[in-house]
Parts: sequence; structure tokens; C-alpha cells
Amino acid sequence: MLERLQEMMRESGAHLEGHFLLTSGNHSSDYMQCALLLRYPKYAAFAGAALAGRVAKYAPQMVASPALGGLIIGHEVARALDLPFIFCERQDGAMTLRRFPMPEGLRVVVIEDVVTTGVSSGEVGAVLERGGAKWVATGSVIDRSGGRSALPHAPESLWRVDFPLWKPEECPLCAKNIPIVKPGSRGSKPSDGR
Ligand SMILES: [Zn+2]
Repeated sequence: MLERLQEMMRESGAHLEGHFLLTSGNHSSDYMQCALLLRYPKYAAFAGAALAGRVAKYAPQMVASPALGGLIIGHEVARALDLPFIFCERQDGAMTLRRFPMPEGLRVVVIEDVVTTGVSSGEVGAVLERGGAKWVATGSVIDRSGGRSALPHAPESLWRVDFPLWKPEECPLCAKNIPIVKPGSRGSKPSDGR
């Protein structure tokens, strides 16, 4: 499964290898933008089914995601598990469940495309728990938290990545005079590059 996913990430341009300037100002040899994978419904369905396989053991009764990043993959996981799908969104900065009744008493898995800090998924889980739902697990296509996410439990993920990040002055690729690229600078807005 992992090899196939890695192939899809490269094919879709969601995983680039080279020398990149990230929005944080750090340099890296790898860049990821999961939205580029999920723009292909067949890849989204593949990742959703695989992730559904990972979280099925928690016996969820509902899938919830943070908008916007989690919408497509959350929907695909819900489809694969034949469960309803809901999402939370930010309103005046605060994560809220605006459009759906609270799944009170139900077991809910929170699904995101990429877990970096875990903040968005954590906020969704917290909103649902405050409303009386049971937040039983979190899942993501990519886990780039390096085990340091803010989540109360380790996320289930399809691919745990730990790409090196360097400060510009310590970057070995700069030392080799390899030209640097700012991903997404032509049109698209990267959100995963940190
Ligand atoms: Zn560099």
C-alpha cells in the first residue's frame, strides 16, 4: 500500500524532491502538498479506503474533519466505512460545528490530510467531545508530526514522513549551490510546507 501511495504522491506532484524554500523560511529536500494528490478522485478513493482500513478497529460511527484540508479525504474514509461524514470549520478563528447536529454519544474518528502540529484535528476532537461525542481516533494520509503532535493519541496514518529541515545557513543543498525553488509560487498557495 505504502509504495503505491508514494508513487501516487509523486505522479500527482504532491511530493516533490529537490531543494525547497518553505513558508517557514527553512530549506528542505522534500516538499508535500497533499491537495495535489486528492485532486484526483481515484487517488483520493485509494487513500480513503486505505485509511478506513486503519481506523476501522476503533469501531467509529461517524467521520469528522476540519475544513478545508480534511474534506475530501474525510469524505472518502466515510464512504469506505459506509458512515456519515461531518466537518467543522473556523468561525471568527474558533473551530465550530455549524451545519450538523452534534453526534452526541457516538464514536467519531477525526480525519485530516496531513497532521503536522495536530492543531486542527485536535480542535475538531475537542469541539465534538465538549458536545458529548466520543473522539476515538485520529487519522491522516500523511503524518509529519515526528511524534510531536498536540493530539492526545498518536494519529493513524498511511505514511509517516520525517524529511530533514535546515536553516538556510546550515543547508547542505545551498552549500552545493543547488538552485532553490519556492513551491507554489506560480499560482497555487501551499499550506503544508512548514
Ligand atoms: Zn538550501
